[in-house]
Amino acid sequence: MGVVMGVGLGVGAEGKGGEGGVRLEERFGGLREKLGKGNGDRAGLVGEGVAVKMLRGGVAGRMWKAKLGGTEFRLTIEDGLELKPEEALAVLEKLPPLYRRALVIVSEGKKDGAAYYKDLDGAAAHGSQDYLNMIAKADVSVVAHEAGHILEQRATATDPEVLARWKEAIAADKVSVSRYGDQVAHEDLAEFARVYALCLAGGKEALEELRAASPRRFGQWEAILKPAKKD
Ligand SMILES: [Zn+2]
Repeated sequence: MGVVMGVGLGVGAEGKGGEGGVRLEERFGGLREKLGKGNGDRAGLVGEGVAVKMLRGGVAGRMWKAKLGGTEFRLTIEDGLELKPEEALAVLEKLPPLYRRALVIVSEGKKDGAAYYKDLDGAAAHGSQDYLNMIAKADVSVVAHEAGHILEQRATATDPEVLARWKEAIAADKVSVSRYGDQVAHEDLAEFARVYALCLAGGKEALEELRAASPRRFGQWEAILKPAKKD
């Protein structure tokens, strides 16, 4: 794709409070510890790692093939970063299975897959359909946010109106997802992806509560996830 949009998620960027009522991230934030609890699949490495020059800055790193359930993807870690591949996989396997398609998208062609760097200029992660860059302490909710960017950009590639419709959904639903998301529609979408992941982990009731609180976003995010359901 021609347009590469790097989107950073700052460390500790979540907002508190809000004039317009309770933000969705506050309402559902308590589900955070449930992320990954219901996932039975365990991720593993396939074969040995190989030395590579990583896409961001050409720094030296090591790339592995990894498998999680039926999903195959790449994992790349910058040399010298104190993160074992098994530790990275332990985080990634907490992703909702429906979000694993994001790992596949960033592993296409010459992409690095889930890529861990020593430093991302202060950000915890950057996600686009061309890369998923993270620092060692990026937790699964950060990965869920970045998966939001990856899957949105993939959807936009075939349907350029995705973000325009999302803006309409924000206006119609009249509720904030998070202060970070309030900045711009594509961040609102990524933040909704994160909250939706929390509610998936929380179970049917939490999902229905989210649907009732933000019905237009809910329907549009499920449409973006739909190709993953077919995989
Ligand atoms: Zn973002």
